[in-house]
Amino acid sequence: MTTYLSGIQPTGRPHLGNYFGALRQHVEAARTDGEHFYFIADYHSLTSIHDPVVLRELVREVAVTYIALGLDLERAVLFRQSDVPEVTELTWMLSCVTGMGLLERAHSFKDKVANGIKPSVGLFTYPILMAADILAYDTDRVPVGKDQVQHLEMAQDMGGYFNGRYGEVFKRPEAVLAAGGEHLQRVIGLDGRKMSKSYDNGIWIFETGKALKKRVNRVVTDSRPPEEPKEPESVVLMDLMKLFLDDAEFEQWSARLRAGGEGAPGYGHLKARLTEGIEEHFAEARARRDELLGDPAELDRILAAGAAKARARAAATRDRALAACGLR
Ligand code: ATP
Ligand code: MG
Repeated sequence: MTTYLSGIQPTGRPHLGNYFGALRQHVEAARTDGEHFYFIADYHSLTSIHDPVVLRELVREVAVTYIALGLDLERAVLFRQSDVPEVTELTWMLSCVTGMGLLERAHSFKDKVANGIKPSVGLFTYPILMAADILAYDTDRVPVGKDQVQHLEMAQDMGGYFNGRYGEVFKRPEAVLAAGGEHLQRVIGLDGRKMSKSYDNGIWIFETGKALKKRVNRVVTDSRPPEEPKEPESVVLMDLMKLFLDDAEFEQWSARLRAGGEGAPGYGHLKARLTEGIEEHFAEARARRDELLGDPAELDRILAAGAAKARARAAATRDRALAACGLR
């Protein structure tokens, strides 16, 4: 049986990148046979969220998002990372087989530092905690966005180093990227960088009305007039439009941009169509989110049930790892 696992950090409200790169795949995968573990990476988020009230709120937001998007809770285990403290024990064991050089090569760490984020040791060792998360559940497949592929390779390396030293304890996981193209695997943010919660350049998937309009208005454009012919690839708005339009409609907009002249759409037209696309795409899930927020006890129950299942699995792997390295 194939085991799927992935997670999302409660470092902000889930954005379009999280959805198209990861969450949508999680919900779809959980409709197939196999075992499915999805978690809210709250230990990870301590690297950037330092307000306990905000953190509690965001954890619930991520959980509600999964359920509102249709995660099948009969098949999938939804849980909080910190309800499974065994992963921190695995993190320590893995950190003792991992060279500093491996972590020093991490693009995500380097990008965050280059973008002005002051790193803690936790941000530096993030890939080890992530490897522990993945390896703890004997995971086969990890549906993630492109920015996480390197971390996945590191998890493979760390599992391999441990197995090489102590014998076969960990299974080798593989990353799975969204089928359908780069625009889904690495969604561009309002400012043209990768859409990220920590860069505040995202669009929350459930944003609506005026707030959504304001957000879409912030997508970078240039001062070229509508009449000037343009390559659609050079227009950030088109990358985002591609997420919501079917191929035929996307091609029409592209052709009008390329042709330029009097009938060509201005950036305002693109923004209006994008706003409409987002509103429509998430309308049903948005309504479900509102309902779920009204029943916090049910959410607690779901997370507690998820925690018990996840913990049993991770404890078995932790025991195997302890025994292999001579700690039992
Ligand atoms: P942070 O800035 O705090 O790292 P994030 O926006 O990168 O937040 P994560 O919680 O780190 O989000 O990632 C959750 C999942 O979403 C991961 O699988 C990640 O690969 C995916 N993801 C994040 N950003 C994008 C993006 N712009 N395009 C596609 N997938 C993405
Ligand atoms: Mg990230």
